[in-house]
Amino acid sequence: MKARFDEYTVSVNILDSYYRKLRNSLSCDVAIVGAGPSGLYAAGLLSARGRRVVVVESKLAPGGGIWGGGMGMNEIVIQSEAVHILEDLGMKAEKSGDVYVTDACLLAAKLTATAIARGAVLLNLLTAEDVCVKDGRVTGVVANRTGISGRYHVDPVMFTARAVLDATGHDAMLVNYLNKHGYRIDTPSGTFEGEGAMNVVEGENFVVERTGEVFPGLFLAGMAVCATFNGPRMGPIFGGMLLSGERAAGQIEAALAEA
Ligand SMILES: Cc1cc2nc3c(=O)[nH]c(=O)nc-3n(C[C@H](O)[C@H](O)[C@H](O)COP(=O)(O)OP(=O)(O)OC[C@H]3O[C@@H](n4cnc5c(N)ncnc54)[C@H](O)[C@@H]3O)c2cc1C
Repeated sequence: MKARFDEYTVSVNILDSYYRKLRNSLSCDVAIVGAGPSGLYAAGLLSARGRRVVVVESKLAPGGGIWGGGMGMNEIVIQSEAVHILEDLGMKAEKSGDVYVTDACLLAAKLTATAIARGAVLLNLLTAEDVCVKDGRVTGVVANRTGISGRYHVDPVMFTARAVLDATGHDAMLVNYLNKHGYRIDTPSGTFEGEGAMNVVEGENFVVERTGEVFPGLFLAGMAVCATFNGPRMGPIFGGMLLSGERAAGQIEAALAEA
């Protein structure tokens, strides 16, 4: 039987399809940097509201710090306040006292699949190298191929967005780029304050309560919140990350609707 495809067909389809995704994402409603739990859940919620969302992830696999659970034991603990999010993702969790336990790899996969199925464009192997700032407002993300970024003298491309979410985890990369350029952010010191010591209960509350806009146009979710505002770290309990993503999506949606 004669094959109906060849090497050319394989390559040209990848190129054309990726080009369309990239081309359509260069100007969007929301650019999210970091495909961890907070960024992915926010991406799915905003996409479900009809917003055009791009997620820029530097690594090959989306999921951030989910995969390994605690110390490489791939189970996830979620408090009851966040169990509605597991239901939204179509997941079951086992109740154990006052918390729920579920599979870490399944959560990473479900968050990724849900975000994409709801319409978000996920671009992996792209590193955010900077932010765009116009008239005192963050207006986009500067990104480069992960293999190129920091290694070769090659210029990046820019994603223009009405709102940007820093969901880069412990490093709060976008906040740090703003600080590097001398911009004050909405913390007591005006700069990145670094993460505090472990306190599970306080950390889980803190990450949700302090989720929000830290500079005009730039929102924070997930561990980037604790890292920026000197909030306590909280170990491998993930309800706060998901609730922070949910809250960030609500705040971004409200800001976009108002503008
Ligand atoms: C060393 C370590 C310590 C941890 N400590 C804690 C802890 O104290 N408390 C806790 O709750 N959990 C901790 N975790 C678990 C876990 O990281 C977090 O709870 C949870 O995954 C954070 O979710 P997030 O949504 O903030 O983003 P993360 O899961 O951290 O994901 C952030 C994503 O952003 C991507 N990213 C970062 N910079 C860029 C960039 N410039 N461009 C594009 N993408 C970028 C990363 O590749 C990553 O996929 C830790 C994990 C590790 C590895």
